[in-house]
Amino acid sequence: MKDRKRILITGAAGFLGSHLCDRFVKEDFYVIAMDNLITGRLKNIEHLFPLENFEFYHHDVTKFIHIPGKLDYILHFASPASPIDYLKIPIQTLKVGSLGIHNCLGLAKAKNATLMIASTSEVYGDPQIHPQTEDYWGHVNPIGPRGVYDEAKRFQEAMVMAYHNFHGLETRIVRIFNTYGPRMRLNDGRVLPAFIGQALRGEDLTIFGDGMQTRSFCYVDDLVEGIFRLLHTNYYLPVNIGNPDEITIKDFAEEIIKLTGTSQKIVYRPLPENDPKQRQPDITKARELLGWEPKVSRAEGLKKTLAYFKSLSPDELKEIDHYNFDKYIIK
Ligand code: UDP
Repeated sequence: MKDRKRILITGAAGFLGSHLCDRFVKEDFYVIAMDNLITGRLKNIEHLFPLENFEFYHHDVTKFIHIPGKLDYILHFASPASPIDYLKIPIQTLKVGSLGIHNCLGLAKAKNATLMIASTSEVYGDPQIHPQTEDYWGHVNPIGPRGVYDEAKRFQEAMVMAYHNFHGLETRIVRIFNTYGPRMRLNDGRVLPAFIGQALRGEDLTIFGDGMQTRSFCYVDDLVEGIFRLLHTNYYLPVNIGNPDEITIKDFAEEIIKLTGTSQKIVYRPLPENDPKQRQPDITKARELLGWEPKVSRAEGLKKTLAYFKSLSPDELKEIDHYNFDKYIIK
């Protein structure tokens, strides 16, 4: 047997996790993929099952993790990741970011592995500085609808820093900004699958608020490249990875209408509470440290993403939740 690097990826059947599995398998790592399949899907990784350098554990990372043999790296990417998920499964969101990271850190310490966490632009909350640099402490409402995610991710960063400082563990923190691409869950409520799903089903596109809020969308291949490079440095402080090309949600809806050729119109719905007004990563650090910057334009990335959504069956296209935020909030 070859002496391959062995990597554990949690959240492996999810959108980002599955793309990371693809990349590390291709780089000839031995990939141990873990997922409890609450929001992940086996379909995203089933093409990897026949490979000799891939195995899947159906396991919940908030429970004790046992991995036989050596382990060189752990990527803790398990988490619900959309505003509607935070409302539907708030306790799991908190647990995977707290109990889950604690188990991963314990495992990393026992195996002397390097551990990376998927942190997020949500640690900046509804930001008061623009664009967001890594030294900004953020503007987060701990008890708002996004609090379960934001605080779990902030706790994860604190926990990872504690293991780094106290135990000398090799750690990495990537702060991920809005990312898109094939394998996003159509029903996760995030803006891109929402708009493309609506266009393909012949429904109107729902803009929350006036659509003047901004986001900056990064194509998944660019993100994976940034993560791969960061893992191979020895830099333990947070690094933003995202695409600084910022756009209003209204312009984004218009781009999707043009791209899909739908004749549907835009309808306006109330803005969910604590929805950040603007978001754009400052990627100076990633540029300097990793020589990294995004390469895929939105036009190119959206084309590939649309092709993926078009390949779904009519049944899969129907699987939606109708983004009813109020349904999950007991006033
Ligand atoms: N959004 C929207 N219509 C939708 C879904 C989302 O206008 O059907 C908006 C949402 O209010 C937010 C932006 O699009 O301002 C991005 O939302 P998403 O859920 O993708 O991620 P966020 O960046 O807010 O976590």
